[in-house]
Amino acid sequence: MSGTDSSIRNDRLLLKGGRIIDPSQGMNAKGDILVEHGTIKKIDRAIEGTSRVPTLHLEGKWVVPGLIDMHVHLREPGEEYKETIRTGCMAGAAGGFTALACMPNTFPANSTSSVTRFIIERAREAALARVYPIATITRDQDGKQLTEFGDLLEAGAIAFSDDGLPVEDSFVMRLAMEYSLNFDALIISHSEDLPLSRGGVMNEGRISTVLGLKGIPKVAEEIAISRDIALAELTGARLHIAHVSTKGSVDIIRRAKGRGIKVTAETAPHYFSLTEEAVMGYNTLAKMNPPLRTEEDRLAIIEGLRDGTIDVIATDHAPHSILEKECEFELAANGITGLETALPLALELVRQGAISPPDMVRLMSERPALILGVEGGTLKPGSPADITVIDPDIPFTFTPELSHSKSHNSPFYGCKLQGKAILTLLGGVATYDPDVILP
Ligand SMILES: [Zn+2]
Repeated sequence: MSGTDSSIRNDRLLLKGGRIIDPSQGMNAKGDILVEHGTIKKIDRAIEGTSRVPTLHLEGKWVVPGLIDMHVHLREPGEEYKETIRTGCMAGAAGGFTALACMPNTFPANSTSSVTRFIIERAREAALARVYPIATITRDQDGKQLTEFGDLLEAGAIAFSDDGLPVEDSFVMRLAMEYSLNFDALIISHSEDLPLSRGGVMNEGRISTVLGLKGIPKVAEEIAISRDIALAELTGARLHIAHVSTKGSVDIIRRAKGRGIKVTAETAPHYFSLTEEAVMGYNTLAKMNPPLRTEEDRLAIIEGLRDGTIDVIATDHAPHSILEKECEFELAANGITGLETALPLALELVRQGAISPPDMVRLMSERPALILGVEGGTLKPGSPADITVIDPDIPFTFTPELSHSKSHNSPFYGCKLQGKAILTLLGGVATYDPDVILP
C-alpha cells in the first residue's frame, strides 16, 4: 500500500479495542485511539465510531507508541550495496519502528552539514520513518579535530558519536564534552580501549581459546566506559553509552547513576539473547563489536534492563554484504542486522517475565525519545500518530526472504520467533501493513 493512498483515504482512523500500552500516560489497558490528520486526536476507554470513520478492530493486539531505534547504520552515503536509507527504513517499518537515529560512519562520514542534509533529504523522499542523523565527534572520525557541532545541529544532527571507533584521546573527548555543553548536545560513546581490543575478534575466554581466536577482554569496554563517565562527571556533559555488553559495564553505569552523573545507556537485543556460544563453528553471523559475551553477562544485561540501569534497547543494525561475512572469521566484518528481530526478541524477555510490557515500551520508545529530545514515545493527544500495532503471540520463522533489509547478516535466520509488528503508522500513514488491515 502506498503512503499517499492511505493518507488521502484515512484523514481519520479509529483504532478500537487494542491493549494500549503507553508508560508516558501510565496506560496499560484496553482502549481506543482516534487519529485525525496525522495526529492523535483522542485516547479513551471507548470512543464512539461513526460510519464515516474507518475503524480497525484490534482485540488481542497491543497498541504502542511507534518504536524508536537510536542506533542504526543505514550505510548511505557510500555503501549503498549494503543498505540505503530507503531499504533501512523499510526494514525499520517492518520491525515496528517509526524513527531511527543513524550513525555517522558512512563514506563520507557525517562530519559536515552537507552530509547531514543529504541524509535528511533522502529520508524525506523515502517517507518511511523519521530519520535523525548522528554526526561524528571528530572530522572523519580522525580522533583529533572536533567537527562543527553548531553547524551540524542546525542542519538537523541530533547527537554526536564516532561510533565504530572510540575517541581514543582522552583530551579530545574532554574537549568534545566541554564543547557539547554550549548546545546541550548528547555525546554517544562507542566505549572501547583499542590497545586492549586490537586484533580481537570475539570475547576473550574459554571459547576463544578453544577456537584459537584472539579475544577481546571485557575490560576493554569497561575501562572506556569508566573513562567517559569520569569525563562526563568532570564536564557535566550529557553522555550516552552505546551497546553495553558486560556485567562490569552494567555495574559501572549503575554506580554512576547512583552518584547523579548524567549518563544513559543502551544495549542491543543480541546481548540479552545470545552468548559467545553462538560463535562456535566459526559462525561469522555471530561476529560483532563489542562481541557476544557469557551467560553471566547476558543475565546482568537483563537485570540492567529490569532495574533501569540500561535505558534503551537499540538494535545496532549493521548490514553487511555476503562477501564481508562469508569468509574467514578473522576477516569477517563486525555486526548484524537487527531492525526486524528486535521486537520479537524483546517480547521474549516479556514472556520470560524479565520485563513488563510497559518496560518494553519504555525501553524501545519513551526513553529513546527523551534521550534524543525528539517527538514520539507517547500517545498523548496532540502527538504525531506514530503508532505500532503488535501481535504479541504470532509465531514465525525469520528468514532472509522475510527481511526488508538489503543485507542478510542475521544470526537469527531459521529461529522460531514469537510476536511482531502487524501495522506501523507514521503520522497516521501506514509504512508497514503486510496483511492490509488498514481499511
Ligand atoms: Zn559502536
